[in-house]
Amino acid sequence: MNLLDIEHLRVDLRSRERRGAPRTVIHDVSLTIAPGEAVGVVGESGSGKSMTVKAVMRLLPRRATVGGTLEFRGTSIPAMPGRDLARFRSQLVSMIYQDPRAHINPLRTIGDFLIEGVVASGQMNRAEALEAACTLLRDVGVNDPQRRLSQYPHQLSGGLLQRMMIVMALLPSPELVLADEPTTALDVTVQSEVMAILTEQIRERSVGLLFITHDLDLAAAVTDSLAVMHAGTVVERGPSADIYAAPRHPYTAALLASRPSPTSVARPVSIPGRPVSAFEAGEGCAFASRCPYAIGQCRTERPEPRTAGTRTVACHRSDELEAVLAEGVRA
Ligand code: SF4
Repeated sequence: MNLLDIEHLRVDLRSRERRGAPRTVIHDVSLTIAPGEAVGVVGESGSGKSMTVKAVMRLLPRRATVGGTLEFRGTSIPAMPGRDLARFRSQLVSMIYQDPRAHINPLRTIGDFLIEGVVASGQMNRAEALEAACTLLRDVGVNDPQRRLSQYPHQLSGGLLQRMMIVMALLPSPELVLADEPTTALDVTVQSEVMAILTEQIRERSVGLLFITHDLDLAAAVTDSLAVMHAGTVVERGPSADIYAAPRHPYTAALLASRPSPTSVARPVSIPGRPVSAFEAGEGCAFASRCPYAIGQCRTERPEPRTAGTRTVACHRSDELEAVLAEGVRA
């Protein structure tokens, strides 16, 4: 049984004033995570990545309407009663956020911050939690863990603080970790270090990972499968290595062409136009105004996701463009 099943997720959001028609912020997101599997969700800002995570954690505002299926181990997340939801959020699933400083109380010690969740949920008493935190701190390469536990957030660097977030996420022994751009706020050199620690710990414990990022290279390197999002829709899904080697959707191919290559001096090619939000997408394909392969049908008819081999692709022309897009990556 899968850990997480998301099928045709749709989220509509009313304005704060509750005036006008609701806006669609997620059109169609489908993905699954098996136990121990690492899945990357990649896309530009505004593509709906973080909204998807909020829907999974049932953290959307009250003015949101959720459609489709959201299940954890076969149990509907939207239908979970309060007690089950509390256990789901505190023990079964953990989150690692983008900016650790924005999610840590500057007035409390690191130790109090780390153990608060497991003590409050009754998983461990204070002494057990502190001991487990020390062990995990050593596992993530933090020297002198006792001293770190008595320090305050302002005494730690960004990289060290993000390691604390990893420890906090792993302390309840969750089955799934949701990491929302966990290295974006860090220096490039620290980014790779933190990412290596996170993936190592996740794999050692066979914990599932949902990794949200705008960095396709990084996602392909650390995940088993990828879901590429554009304008609130998963436009391509499949094994990370396959997508990275030969994208089947023009948007995925454009993302790959827009990043600098370590093996080529060719200039990166930016994607023309601006990213479109889900609520701005019209009748047809949301990528049509930026896609060099758009035809008349693309502007009038929304492409439905179709399975092709190991992939699911939402593009009218994915079959005929297969060779062209693969060639573009090799160029
Ligand atoms: Fe481009 Fe048309 Fe495919 Fe959309 S459906 S990605 S516009 S070819």
